[in-house]
Amino acid sequence: MPWFSYHGGHSGEFCRHAKGRLEEVVERAWEAGFTHYGLSEHCPRIRSEDVFEDEIDLGVEGLERLFVEYQAEAARLRVLYADRLEILVGFETERLPPDDWAKVMARLRAHANPDFIIGSVHHVNARCIDYSKQRTEAVAVEMGGRIPLEQAYFDDLAELVSELRPEIVGHFDLIRKFDGDGAGFGEEVWPRVERALEAIHAANAVLDVNPSAHRRGLSPVYPLPRILKRAREMGIGVTLGDDSHGAHDVGVGLDACIREIKVAGYQEVACFRRIGGETQRVEVPVGQMQPKP
Ligand SMILES: [Zn+2]
Ligand SMILES: [Zn+2]
Repeated sequence: MPWFSYHGGHSGEFCRHAKGRLEEVVERAWEAGFTHYGLSEHCPRIRSEDVFEDEIDLGVEGLERLFVEYQAEAARLRVLYADRLEILVGFETERLPPDDWAKVMARLRAHANPDFIIGSVHHVNARCIDYSKQRTEAVAVEMGGRIPLEQAYFDDLAELVSELRPEIVGHFDLIRKFDGDGAGFGEEVWPRVERALEAIHAANAVLDVNPSAHRRGLSPVYPLPRILKRAREMGIGVTLGDDSHGAHDVGVGLDACIREIKVAGYQEVACFRRIGGETQRVEVPVGQMQPKP
C-alpha cells in the first residue's frame, strides 16, 4: 500500500526554523510506514535583506552553502534507504528576489536538477507573510488592506505557477496562516483564487494538501474545503505533503488531509515516483492509501 508525502523534509541541519538532522527525518519517515518520501528544503534567499534575523550569522553565502550541503546529504540518504523507502529530492521555491525570481528559480532548478519542485509563495511585495501575525499585518497595511494583500498573494501564486510549472503547489492558501479558525476568503478575493487554480490546471500541477495549518491549531488543512472542492470540479489533482520541519512532524496530520480529500469528492491522489531516471505521476485510489505496517 502506498503512503507518501512530497512537501516536507525540512531539517534543522539545513534550515534554521526546523529541528534535528535530515537523517532523523528520513529514519522517522521509514518508521512511520512511508513508501515514498519527498524532501523539499527551502531554496536559498540570495539578497541580504531577505535573510531572517536568526540567519544573520550565516548570511547569503551561508544559506547557499547549506543548500548545496542539503542536496549532497539528500542524495546520500536516497542511496542509503533505497531498498526500504523511495526518497525524492526537490526544493521549495521563493518569489525572491522580487524582480528576477523567475530567472533565479530557473537557474537553481537547472543547476540542482531536482526530482520535483514545490511552487510556494512566502513573500508578497518582497515581505514575508509566513513569519508572524504582526509582519503579515504590516504587509497588509503596506498593500492598502487585507483584501488587496490576499488578491496580490493569489495573483503572485498564479504567476509563479505559470512561470515555473512546478509539479506541486505548496500550501495554496498560506496567506490565511495567522487568521485563526473560521477564516475564509471574501467574494472580492474569490475570483483571484479561481485564477490561481486555473493556472495550476494549465500547468498540470497538483495541490499539496498540507496539515501544517491543522498542526498549528487551525482546524482545516491547506487548502480550505471550498477551494479543494472547486479544484476537484476543475480537474486539478492533489497529493500529500506533511510539510515536516523535523522528525517530530513526519506524517503528522496526514489523516486529516485524507479526510478532507475524500470530503471534497476526490477518488485519487497523485503519487510521484522515479522510474528510469524520470519523475512520473501515478494516481492512487484514495481508499488504498495507508502506511505500510
Ligand atoms: Zn519552512
Ligand atoms: Zn512553505
